[in-house]
Amino acid sequence: MQNYIYFFDEGRKELKHLLGGKGANLAEMKRIGLPVPAGFTVTTAACLAYFNAKQTMPPTLKAALPLAIERLEQETAKQLVGTTRPLLLSVRSGSVHSMPGMMDTILNLGLTDQSVLILANETNNPRFAFDCYRRLIQMFGNVVMGISSALFEEALTALKTEQQRARDTDLTSDDLQQLITTYKTIYRTQTGKDFPQDPLQQLMLAIEAVFDSWYNPRALTYRQLHHLADDLGTAVTIQEMVFGNMGDTSATGVCFTRNPSTGANEIFGEFLLNAQGEDVVAGIRTPLPMQSLQHIMPSLYATFSERIQLLETHYKDMQDVEFTIEKGQLYFLQTRNGKRTAAAQIHLLMTFLDEGLLTAAEVIERLSYDDIEAALHDTFNTAAIEALTPFAIGLPASPGAATGQLYFSATAAQAAAEHNIPVILARQETSPEDIAGMIASEAIITSRGGMTSHAAVVARGMGTACVCGCHTLLIDEVEKTLHYDNGILTEGDWLSVDGSTGKLYPQKIPLSPAVITPSFKRLMQVLSKRTHISVRANADTATDFAQALQFEASGIGLTRTEHMFFSPERLLEMRRLILATTAAERLVALNELEPHQTADFSALFRTAGSRPVTIRLLDPPLHEFLPTQLSEQQQLATQLNISPLLLTERLAALKESNPMMGHRGVRLAISYPAIYKMQVQAIVKSALQLQAEGITVTPEIMIPLIGSEAELNWMRHFLEQAIDEVLTDANKQLTYTIGTMIELPRACLIAGKLATTADFFSFGTNDLTQMVYGFSRDDSAGFLPEYIAKQLLPVDPFQTIDKDGVGQLMQQAILAAKATKPGIKIGVCGELGGEPLSVAYFEKIGVDYVSCSPYRVPLAKLALAKAAL
Ligand code: ADP
Ligand code: MG
Ligand code: MG
Repeated sequence: MQNYIYFFDEGRKELKHLLGGKGANLAEMKRIGLPVPAGFTVTTAACLAYFNAKQTMPPTLKAALPLAIERLEQETAKQLVGTTRPLLLSVRSGSVHSMPGMMDTILNLGLTDQSVLILANETNNPRFAFDCYRRLIQMFGNVVMGISSALFEEALTALKTEQQRARDTDLTSDDLQQLITTYKTIYRTQTGKDFPQDPLQQLMLAIEAVFDSWYNPRALTYRQLHHLADDLGTAVTIQEMVFGNMGDTSATGVCFTRNPSTGANEIFGEFLLNAQGEDVVAGIRTPLPMQSLQHIMPSLYATFSERIQLLETHYKDMQDVEFTIEKGQLYFLQTRNGKRTAAAQIHLLMTFLDEGLLTAAEVIERLSYDDIEAALHDTFNTAAIEALTPFAIGLPASPGAATGQLYFSATAAQAAAEHNIPVILARQETSPEDIAGMIASEAIITSRGGMTSHAAVVARGMGTACVCGCHTLLIDEVEKTLHYDNGILTEGDWLSVDGSTGKLYPQKIPLSPAVITPSFKRLMQVLSKRTHISVRANADTATDFAQALQFEASGIGLTRTEHMFFSPERLLEMRRLILATTAAERLVALNELEPHQTADFSALFRTAGSRPVTIRLLDPPLHEFLPTQLSEQQQLATQLNISPLLLTERLAALKESNPMMGHRGVRLAISYPAIYKMQVQAIVKSALQLQAEGITVTPEIMIPLIGSEAELNWMRHFLEQAIDEVLTDANKQLTYTIGTMIELPRACLIAGKLATTADFFSFGTNDLTQMVYGFSRDDSAGFLPEYIAKQLLPVDPFQTIDKDGVGQLMQQAILAAKATKPGIKIGVCGELGGEPLSVAYFEKIGVDYVSCSPYRVPLAKLALAKAAL
């Protein structure tokens, strides 16, 4: 026969699925010796059986209940039905997953017209007894019979006004008796029946009501929102009442064992003297902070602190407890792992590690990627956001929350930011020219482009929230309008961006700011010690890298030198260089650019110290540096002192129909070697400069887009000559390495041969995925979601490594390279280098380090630490 009832001493915390969180933890608290009022739990299995039988009580449960009550009567030496010592019960719901406030509790069950008099008499406290009874009628009427609580509240308020009582506690015993009569009338008019005078009948009805509450609309919505299954059912806990409303030595309260906002080691909670249950949350009276209890009941407070400490140690986590004090006697009514902010979670885990409560492995296991992301970025107030509907949903390209005013161009964004306006920059897509505007913005949204589009990569690098590829939006940069399904936003309108979910909201939403706490930094150190391979950062500036160092990045895996050319004075020289028609002209521009490059590299090297720094030579197609708008072109012609016609001709000549597969990467330097020559000489000069200051740097020079052995050999030889020139001139020695990006399928296939010349490899997974799959990284976001929806692709290969295709090629290349040169260093520097699933895979196939945007470094570290468990 199915056992549907577990007494507290038969349960334990592991039985949550049967007893619900509340029932299982009550049993556990009893088991470890804490004071818990007696009781038992009707299992979730009983609830499921009840629904299977079309909402009728399983006969075995019906038969078992009176026996359980009898046992409870013996344990408590009280009687549910009888002439002395009335047993009052609380009937409480509880499922496996805590669903706070989703279902209702009934207190004081068992009271009748008769037993209330006995209770009044025995406690010598009629006021208390009648208060319990009127609460029961109200709760039972509402929860079990569905009478609106407003009707009861109105009656209560009317009585208080009539009798001129300011607070509930001012009501006298006579007042309460009068209220009970009114409540019973309400009950009768609303239900057509009298309030039940049989305690067992009250109990049966209450249990059914708790079962039924499993499918109430609140509970359904909550489960939907949190992706919880509907077929788990709720348990029902039936427990002896203890009374916090028996006078001024009684109280009821809720308390966290630590501060749930910060994780600080301090008791955090509140209580009300002479009160019951929901009074604390109901806000009828202002509760007192827990610290006041120390003054009011010092010895009880001491016991309380000791006991909750025991609870925390036992559960190895911060607890959220509910308690009641009855005439100076403490009882625990509930405990669960407390909800907390991400910052608190990280602080707690580090403290538990220090206290020896958790091992490093347990900390790593318990920590989630969401904790890390949430701790790094500003977040919206959860309650505020749940009530709102987004006006569009795009790709969650860079996590974080931002609220601000809408601007449609980089210049407008910059200007607004200078006036301290929080800016949300909306573009169809961004380009390197937008950088300054992007830096000035709180968030970036685009209607085109995928997870590796310019907007996405740059935003992640800066830790700025970004939602891209919002195809439902019509962004008109000229008209300065943003059309969405049911509306339109214009310049200056408020909107909010959730980069973690991809959702956009058409209003201002309050934010909770993120700070990198000392605990977070220590966590990074703990993770670093537990990873087998290292995590570097993609950083183009010393500032980016300094940020990454806060996260314990082990070096720089990728510096994109092209990003150094976008500030106005350098851009002009860059344009002069690109548009030059003679070698002499080109040299003039290069001589202008070189000191800037040297200064940039020195700053990077100085920040890096002895950490490795990989610098990639110029990579993108040259036209990316050129102006697109006519007015800008005219201005440039004037600046360069050439005719507009000539400029137009040069621009046309540079135009390519497939630039990503065109004149870029090493191919540029095959045509114009002087560019790379300037770059390596700048690298070496700054390295020597640091050497002179006593800092040893070993630059790692990386050539992009290599596709053939001859190309690599030629370029390496050329670079070595350029470097030797500087070294001979300075009469100095320098150790450096020259390696190559692996981002073309052909490079993977000839990796064994490339390894003879290259000192290191770094896989550029963005371009490699683009080339292997033939998906344009800038355009595929438009149709990939369709593939995923139709289950033709498990995931977007730009977001998570495509193991069967791209991964397979990488693996072959690594094997071949190591066969040629066993010690060759192999890294990954694409965006996948910071994505947890991909990172774990890269480690498995023999990569020595991954490199990713600074704000992804912590995620990559956690992934590698989890993989090493
Ligand atoms: P919830 O799941 O909404 O927190 P609970 O079942 O914990 O509901 O009950 C709410 C409140 O009712 C408790 O915090 C406590 O104050 C009161 N309560 C529940 N059971 C008892 C009891 N046995 N004795 C006294 N008060 C109780
Ligand atoms: Mg509770
Ligand atoms: Mg590339």
